[in-house]
Amino acid sequence: MKLSLSNGIFCKLRLDGNLTAVKQLGFQNIEFNMKSIKKEHDTDVYREQKALAASGLNCLTLHSAVMHVKDPIEVHQAVYYGKISLECARALHAPLMTVHSNVSKKLPRQVRERCLREVFDEITPFAKSLGIKLALENLSYTSTGFGKNVEQLEEVLDVIDPDGKMGITFDLCHALETKEMDNLLDAYGRRVCNVHMANKAHKPFTQETPELTRFLNKLHDCGYEGPITLELEHKTPMEEIAKSKALFEKLLKKY
Ligand SMILES: [Zn+2]
Repeated sequence: MKLSLSNGIFCKLRLDGNLTAVKQLGFQNIEFNMKSIKKEHDTDVYREQKALAASGLNCLTLHSAVMHVKDPIEVHQAVYYGKISLECARALHAPLMTVHSNVSKKLPRQVRERCLREVFDEITPFAKSLGIKLALENLSYTSTGFGKNVEQLEEVLDVIDPDGKMGITFDLCHALETKEMDNLLDAYGRRVCNVHMANKAHKPFTQETPELTRFLNKLHDCGYEGPITLELEHKTPMEEIAKSKALFEKLLKKY
């Protein structure tokens, strides 16, 4: 398993300062979160490419810009966010992009299905043409999006991924908040290709807990060797990030 940091935590900084902060903490790998890019710059992927190259960091994964569509009129905007994120993933040589379902949990089922289909009918073939794998993330009950448990994720995957090619980004914080960790692991353990690692409320783990140990053991039993991406709340102090990094460096030696 490979330790990584989501740079979304430094999204308030300018891009060069953002990546410098990641480096100063001693990380080698990042998940590039699209919220690190200001909207007016979102089409200038070469800026990001240059900044990443200058930092020497590896971009293992990219977190798509996301819009949880609450009306079919917003489908085009969600598609735009998805495609511009894929362009950025290509520029940063990220082989994997984390996506949400892109639909609001408030939509009635039939409309939800239509919006899901319309969004992913555009995004999926574009990702395929760029050779980028998509990984659907499990959400928390606090999210405006749809897809917090196995039942909801199955509904989404039935529509957008009938061939079972899509990966899963397992967000442990969300799984703990919804108390779905074991169910999600049982259903998707072998499809996981990215992990968002944090305790509830995106607080950093600074010591081992029984749930964390169980999670890592189960993931290891599924043969998981991908990123462990620390995805932390943006007010997390630097010392706490450093403590969490040290904990995972120690823990991951076992796997
Ligand atoms: Zn996440």
